[in-house]
Amino acid sequence: MLTAEIIAIGSELLGSSRTDTNSLWLTDQLNRIGIDVKLKTIVGDDDARLEEVVKDAVKRSRVVMTTGGLGPTEDDITRKVVARALGKRLSLDEKVLEEIRERFRSFGIANMPERNSRQAMVIAGAEVLSNPNGSAPGLYLEHEGCAVALMPGPPREMKPMFENHVRARLEKLAGDTRFATRVLRVSGLGESAVDEKIAPIYTKYENPQTTILFNSSEIEIHLKAHGRTEADAEALIDDLSLKIEKELGNSAFSFRGETMEEVVGRRLAMTEFTLAVAESCTGGLIAQRLTSVPGSSKYFIEGVVTYSNESKTRLLGVDKKLIKEFGAVSQQVARDMARGVRHRAKTDFGLAVTGVAGPGGGTEDKPVGLVYIALADSAHTEHKKLTIPGDRELVRWRASQAALDMLRRRLI
Ligand code: AMP
Ligand code: MG
Repeated sequence: MLTAEIIAIGSELLGSSRTDTNSLWLTDQLNRIGIDVKLKTIVGDDDARLEEVVKDAVKRSRVVMTTGGLGPTEDDITRKVVARALGKRLSLDEKVLEEIRERFRSFGIANMPERNSRQAMVIAGAEVLSNPNGSAPGLYLEHEGCAVALMPGPPREMKPMFENHVRARLEKLAGDTRFATRVLRVSGLGESAVDEKIAPIYTKYENPQTTILFNSSEIEIHLKAHGRTEADAEALIDDLSLKIEKELGNSAFSFRGETMEEVVGRRLAMTEFTLAVAESCTGGLIAQRLTSVPGSSKYFIEGVVTYSNESKTRLLGVDKKLIKEFGAVSQQVARDMARGVRHRAKTDFGLAVTGVAGPGGGTEDKPVGLVYIALADSAHTEHKKLTIPGDRELVRWRASQAALDMLRRRLI
């Protein structure tokens, strides 16, 4: 498998004024043709640093893509520095120069500014890649087994140049390698707990590669495999994914990148059960998530946001005495909310959340992040107490996730 690296050139990319998006796009493109991007570097317009980076890059990678620094100004140093790093001559190409002149003429400028002639400098042995969207042509060369492409910085120039000139050349080099990727999602377990369970499995595999990421309320396991065909790569992922699923049991809820609300929705649709939701601290987030799934009208009957104590009683029939005795954030009230909304909507399930989202409103025995979730069906009601660290947004998000997960587990 070919390994690649990308060098984004331009001092403006180091600060916050401009973001390097070229390398993100290029990485996706290279992955698609079976080339593995191992590294990207952002270098300012600095001769010495760029020379170092290029020298290292061609030693360690089979494919090196640079973007930026091909313009006509003093700070555009890519051609010159790459030539020096590779020990190759740089000379003026009359044909390219004439093309640049012609481009200016076509815009009604008879005399091309002298500075633009530096864009006609070509590294010995390089092919010139035409740029219909700008004045800077690109260059492509092979140097000691490394394919090097120099492309302009503006994305609207770089992308077509890659698509029209670079991709096919790289495809030929890459041969028959294809990638497949998959995202598994886990809830109810922390990052370390997940890793403790599955590291003994995935560390045995170099292909697929496994990456574990934490993502606000769930753990994501990213699998990436390569094979001669996409089907081969998929089969490798199937094999490892199955072993991971088995180890994680019910905690793994998504195997093809589906969201929690999609998984819950699919289960509800399949079982033909219906659902109503009563929310306090999540303010409608659960209903919003559930109804973001197409087809949710089949199972989602209604959601009520009962933010005040009075509305919990008026809309859900929560016993006033319970609120007075135990407080609105309590297991008793959560359970009564779940039963109440279920009764009111005549659904199979009632799901409820009440908690302290913060940042204010916490007390010693009811701190910020304390959340109760409850789930009622015709036979019984269960509840769970959560202590969620994080800011208001995170508490709300995780509370919604935990509530949906409670329902998901019930539906298994
Ligand atoms: P240059 O080819 O260095 O003259 O770049 C010209 C312009 O292209 C910059 O001012 C940026 O707006 C844009 N650009 C350069 N490099 C990148 C990059 N890596 N990602 C996105 N835009 C870029
Ligand atoms: Mg630049």
